Amino acid sequence: MDFKKLIQKAEYCLNCKLKPCSIKGCPLNNNIPAFIEHVKNENYNLAYKILSDTTVLPAICGRICPHKKQCEGSCVRGIKGNPVDIGELEAFVGDYGIKNNIKIDKETNTISKNVAIVGGGPAGLTCADFLAKKGINVTIFERYEFLGGLLMYGIPEFRLSKEIINDTIKKILDLGIEVKYNQQLGENLKLEDLSKNYDYIVLTFGANVSTKMGIEGECLEGVYGANELLEIGNHPDYKDKTVLVNGGGNVAMDAARTIKRKGAKRVVIVYRRSLEEMPAEEKEIEDSKKEGIEILFKNNIVKINGTKKVESVELIKTELIKKEGDSRLSPVNIEGSNYEIKADYVVMALGSKTDEFVKKLGLELTKRNEIKIDENYKTSNPKIYAGGDVAGNIKTVAWAAKAGRTIAENIIKEFTNKQ
Ligand code: SF4
Repeated sequence: MDFKKLIQKAEYCLNCKLKPCSIKGCPLNNNIPAFIEHVKNENYNLAYKILSDTTVLPAICGRICPHKKQCEGSCVRGIKGNPVDIGELEAFVGDYGIKNNIKIDKETNTISKNVAIVGGGPAGLTCADFLAKKGINVTIFERYEFLGGLLMYGIPEFRLSKEIINDTIKKILDLGIEVKYNQQLGENLKLEDLSKNYDYIVLTFGANVSTKMGIEGECLEGVYGANELLEIGNHPDYKDKTVLVNGGGNVAMDAARTIKRKGAKRVVIVYRRSLEEMPAEEKEIEDSKKEGIEILFKNNIVKINGTKKVESVELIKTELIKKEGDSRLSPVNIEGSNYEIKADYVVMALGSKTDEFVKKLGLELTKRNEIKIDENYKTSNPKIYAGGDVAGNIKTVAWAAKAGRTIAENIIKEFTNKQ
């Protein structure tokens, strides 16, 4: 890291009184001008401590958050020129805190209570950290043999290294958090049992089942869900193959780039709207193009052809129209514009939904089968909180972390009020 350059980047920040980067842009409301001010003064310990008041994932969020849509998108500097490189500065401070093992204060046994957290992704880890710092006993129940959730299996190594995730997790667990691995809710883990042994339960296990289109041919061999493909890693042999990836978010970009790097001859992203509406980050789109991935804008998949496995895909061109009540332009198929592309695999990256077992938890659900929560993230059971994707929160790491932190704050409030 070139420290001179880093300080220059920090000095570019105007230390705005109204801090729109923090208040409007950052889901976690990190005190951005304050931590940058400490970077300017080369006081990295204090910069790390300021960030730790609101986040436990600075090394991760600094790298993978959609900064241009969040903090940097609200930066005053961005009105007339380039915004401050907030993400880069945050990642630097996060790395510094880990490398130098900066200790964050932990209160000892101030609240002698037990909380179970089901799911060790960004929401669960953040919740665990903020509870443990208050001296609360926390146990994370994780379905895999490793923590991190989507950070670990959903984001490819070329975007976020496993080393950074592992270092971040280690720092969180150093607060004295217990972890029980290979615990699957609805199978070897029951809510009733947790309820007997813990004062509160927090559900943060995500929603990682890929959504389907409901079109003909979707059940053919060779059609995959992007989430499962990235999560389980059951990739087929891509050598000399053509793969169509359907979707316009970062998951579509991650899946396409992973497949290309695994040797596919041709990878084509199909997106129904135009570049302007694409939810994926500008940088991810550019990087995908640089890696030779084609993007078909204003195209829609209508049918997947094949007898047993995928042989070709039928597409149709779309036009975008303004529909009343819709915040984005809506794609409408242009009749008669159908055409076909020979393909070997199709990957659906259209979003994700909750697993079927959620229906058996005995909790009230939304129409989308997400766990229904109130404004305090509490479910229909007063002992159970839920946050992150499983409760329908915005599907980004920072929003999941915000849910985890708010749940921890609400639990601490409840414990304090009862004392
Ligand atoms: S809005 Fe931009 S310039 Fe102003 S404090 Fe935030 S990062 Fe600095």
